[in-house]
Amino acid sequence: MTRRRAAMLGAAGLTAVAGVAAGRGAAADEAGEVSGGGAGWMPGVRRRQLRRNFSSGGRVAQRGLILHVQEGEVSPFKWFSTAAAKSSSHFWVSEKGGIEQYVSVLDRAWTQAQGNDEWASVETSGFATQPLTSAQINAVARIYAWGARAYGWPLSVTDSAKGRGLGTHSIGGKRWGGHKCPGPLRARNREAILARARELIRQA
Ligand SMILES: [Zn+2]
Repeated sequence: MTRRRAAMLGAAGLTAVAGVAAGRGAAADEAGEVSGGGAGWMPGVRRRQLRRNFSSGGRVAQRGLILHVQEGEVSPFKWFSTAAAKSSSHFWVSEKGGIEQYVSVLDRAWTQAQGNDEWASVETSGFATQPLTSAQINAVARIYAWGARAYGWPLSVTDSAKGRGLGTHSIGGKRWGGHKCPGPLRARNREAILARARELIRQA
């Protein structure tokens, strides 16, 4: 390790400590707290619970997880908190692999229209013209490994709205709003996500 590299790591360490301190000072739903888990909440990620733009209960199935692309880069928490949004997702993953959870997976986030009753959802920071970063692949895999253990999400890719596994927004067609999200680059990242999820489950 070079001295410069060590200095950079030191600076990153300080930033992380400052971030934790700031999180403690603000309201839990604003800054988010590292979740201890609970019904439908993944432990160890930032829990930023929405007060609107989701429906309580009504999850008639746990078919798996739907991958989305944000077409933006900052946390959508503030937008999802506005009355105008009329949308939300269960999870969001930053380019650096940070995970935020907004809605319990036992409730319905407003992400994929008629697919909300049966599927959990993850928004991924960035654009459809870019594949997921390796940090994002790892983070989505962590979410998937958690869902596989807690809710039986199968460790397979699916391209059917009536299938089970790791799907994409586009598989729902018109009933899910007719989106091409997240595009072919990120859709192809699903195999790597599941390979990593299998490793995480084996290591646990
Ligand atoms: Zn989408």
